[in-house]
Amino acid sequence: MSDSLLRVDEVSKWYGDEKVLTDVSFDMDRGDVTVLIGPSGSGKSTMLRCVNRLTEAQEGDIYLDGECVTDPEMDVNRLRREVGMVFQDFNLFAHLTALENVALGPQRVLGLSKDEARARAREQLEQVGLADQLDSYPAELSGGQQQRVGIARALAMEPKLLLFDEPTSALDPELVGEVLTVMRDLVDEGMTMLVVTHEMSFARSVASNMLFLDKGQVVERGPPEQLFDAPEHDRTKAFLRRLT
Ligand code: ADP
Ligand code: MG
Repeated sequence: MSDSLLRVDEVSKWYGDEKVLTDVSFDMDRGDVTVLIGPSGSGKSTMLRCVNRLTEAQEGDIYLDGECVTDPEMDVNRLRREVGMVFQDFNLFAHLTALENVALGPQRVLGLSKDEARARAREQLEQVGLADQLDSYPAELSGGQQQRVGIARALAMEPKLLLFDEPTSALDPELVGEVLTVMRDLVDEGMTMLVVTHEMSFARSVASNMLFLDKGQVVERGPPEQLFDAPEHDRTKAFLRRLT
């Protein structure tokens, strides 16, 4: 079996007349952590959303585990079971407890019994350190706890790939660490993750590969040491300079 899990092949996308992705290509093997960086509006979220078909690329193809996900015949519901997503603003159901938020997908989508789904949800919430908050509603949780519920919810579907779209950007600075710790644990467990983040020290420590996107194009790519310590392109240098 090949280790290749995701292949993004010459993807281009337009919103109306605006071209927001131009010939983006990259590959991920199982267990890889690819970090996408770039200025606001450079197409990072759009790239992630093309992978689980929350939006459609007009050109190019994306393959997950050998299967063409951009094929119009692709079962999008199955795709979204296999590709989990963690959002900047958590996207939890306010009227459901942490446990219910996490159990919902396994029960409704995977067809587990209510008890099985709740058992799985409990396990996932324990894994993200929320064993004592199972019955809390989102409004009773801190942002960091809510995001950990968001991660548990994605994990409960046992995805092949996890997408993270700026998972810590909405958090107060003192809550960022607990979310990054959970993400680091997932990396250690071998989860394949495609991550958009501005947390550069996190990126440096976990990324197997990084992509710098500007105006919808991959301007530079490489292992974090190369991208951070020896960027080749002026646009990458300027972007990194602005962050420090
Ligand atoms: P990033 O995540 O890097 O900030 P996005 O992928 O959100 O960038 O956006 C890339 C470009 O696409 C931006 O110019 C943005 O305004 C545009 N865009 C994003 N989503 C939509 C949409 N639903 N409709 C129209 N334009 C969009
Ligand atoms: Mg974005």
